[in-house]
Amino acid sequence: MPFFPDHALGFCGGSLDRAAVFRGDADWVAKKRAEPTAKLLRLNGDKVRIEAGALHYETTIDAEAIFLGIDPDGHAVFAGEAVEPLDNAQDLRSLATEAKLPASDLAMLAQARSLLHWHQRRRYCSHCAHELQVKDGGYRRHCPNCTSDHFPRTDPVVIIVVRSGDDVLLGRQSSWPEGRYSALAGFMEPGETIEEAARREVFEETGIRVDAIRYVASQPWPYPSSLMIGLIGEALNRDIVIDEKEIEQARWFSKVEAQTMLNGRHPDALSVPPPMAIAHKILMDALLK
Ligand SMILES: [Zn+2]
Repeated sequence: MPFFPDHALGFCGGSLDRAAVFRGDADWVAKKRAEPTAKLLRLNGDKVRIEAGALHYETTIDAEAIFLGIDPDGHAVFAGEAVEPLDNAQDLRSLATEAKLPASDLAMLAQARSLLHWHQRRRYCSHCAHELQVKDGGYRRHCPNCTSDHFPRTDPVVIIVVRSGDDVLLGRQSSWPEGRYSALAGFMEPGETIEEAARREVFEETGIRVDAIRYVASQPWPYPSSLMIGLIGEALNRDIVIDEKEIEQARWFSKVEAQTMLNGRHPDALSVPPPMAIAHKILMDALLK
């Protein structure tokens, strides 16, 4: 069995062979596109068609479809953007939260969603505005005018549970459901280490200084193309000073109270993100050790 340590996290545990060695050969991709067993996943934004509880695939692969990889049964899998709303469409977040599909399907959907989103917004060269050509099955766009290459984005985000003795620090944003708290998070900036980004975000949002930081796990987050980097840190101070531009509230929770939120049994119905989200996993780890 393959080792997927974080298979319980949504969008982790992909089983496609991305065939990076071969997809640079346009003839190879064209042959895969023409194979009778090739299949196409059609997305409309973050929605996909579900039939009888499973992903619906189309069997005609259009020329614009991007190559995702070869599945364990040897079928070439492609993805394309829908021009019209899909029948029986469900969104990726619900499918992951409710674990309605195998982990490998959710991982493939995240890959497709991030890639398609990038292609929709990168049709023209950012250097010279010439129309770009799709290369490497969709993993590169090339400018025939100025010869520049453009690659799909992955945007790293640090997400951290900070501890102080038997307490953990959680915050909430005003846009979240009532009573929802989560780990603090923010985009990394150029020239930062993961630890520096996490310390900066926590201090900016709450005024808490963080000492030692430990890496826990990571998770692709296709909204549209983030990589969540899950961390646990140890606080150097206790007094919280909120930056209200970034978060609505942050406070210390005892480990006992945080455990009731993980279990969905908080007396005031305070909650944390579901098990498919990395915030859930790092909070669980932070309470354990
Ligand atoms: Zn150009």
